[in-house]
Amino acid sequence: MLITMQRDCSPAVLDRTRQVLESLGCRLRAAEKGPDSALIVVSATRPPDPELVRSLKGVASVEQGTVPACRASISSRPGGTRIEVGPVTIGGGRLTVIAGPCAVEDEDRLVDIARRMKDAGVDLLRGGAYKPRTNPYDFQGLGERGLRMLAAARHETGLPVVTEAVDEASLERVEEHADVIQIGARNMHNYALLKRAGRCSRPVFLKRGFAASLDDLLQAAEYVLDAGNPRVMLCERGIRTFSDHSRFTLDLAIVPRLKRRTHLPVFVDPSHATGVRDSVVPLARAAVACGADGLMVEVHPEPERAACDGPQALDPASMPSLVRDLRELSALVARREEVAS
Ligand code: PEP
Ligand code: MN
Repeated sequence: MLITMQRDCSPAVLDRTRQVLESLGCRLRAAEKGPDSALIVVSATRPPDPELVRSLKGVASVEQGTVPACRASISSRPGGTRIEVGPVTIGGGRLTVIAGPCAVEDEDRLVDIARRMKDAGVDLLRGGAYKPRTNPYDFQGLGERGLRMLAAARHETGLPVVTEAVDEASLERVEEHADVIQIGARNMHNYALLKRAGRCSRPVFLKRGFAASLDDLLQAAEYVLDAGNPRVMLCERGIRTFSDHSRFTLDLAIVPRLKRRTHLPVFVDPSHATGVRDSVVPLARAAVACGADGLMVEVHPEPERAACDGPQALDPASMPSLVRDLRELSALVARREEVAS
């Protein structure tokens, strides 16, 4: 149930309403829906009588049923969210590029890739230390050793690092070593993990589940926001369809829809979406043309020997011109949007 308070309701009236609702057994949350409306979200095993709630002083309206993802909603922050990670500002108009290997393999190789990404103009380094593999016999990642290698790469280059947590135990270690915590597609529905990520001090990079709708994704983000972490980025990474020419189907149509529905920065990962190297660049361009705030791509200097996802890895040597082109395209899109609005 969502209770909208009258705009001019005083803090004392709001407090009184809270007390009455709590005495009725409701758990309350202050919600962010619009900049100037005070709202209360109620979760209770048995919702209170809506007529009774409507009759309370200061209550403007009562909506029954599922509460929308109000903290993630654009109406709670129409200007959009900017997330500072080290020297990088994510959101706010400048395209953010995240690149790196699928998995952390060894320190020298990672530091070398990180240096090349830094020189190419990439903003953040990615690399999995905990790998959520579909097949249990596939490489599962170096774990904490990999996290230390990522920290070494950051130390060498100044690039902030993004890496995945696959469960609550790994999240604690990732929080300690990394700058951004990734929650992967397979864990988008892991609500215990989302709540835990909501209590941590690092921004969260949340990838869309293979079969998640736009609202599923926003509600997953809402878990993190509601638990107290306002720094969430969303990432479209392909969904399952009947198409069999690529690993997943990149749903670029979600980008402009998300931009209208949420203030959270929207990323696209064309690497995992396609699984095919020569599809990654065209779809990266298309993602920027659709208004994405950022991209995540995988790179590897020897893809045929990569521990995972070699066929989709871009050549690190191609990154300087790709990043330059994508930034130019992003600036053109922003100019056109200005003219149109
Ligand atoms: C990844 O980014 O390393 C990854 C496993 O992606 P996804 O969760 O989108 O499959
Ligand atoms: Mn990968």
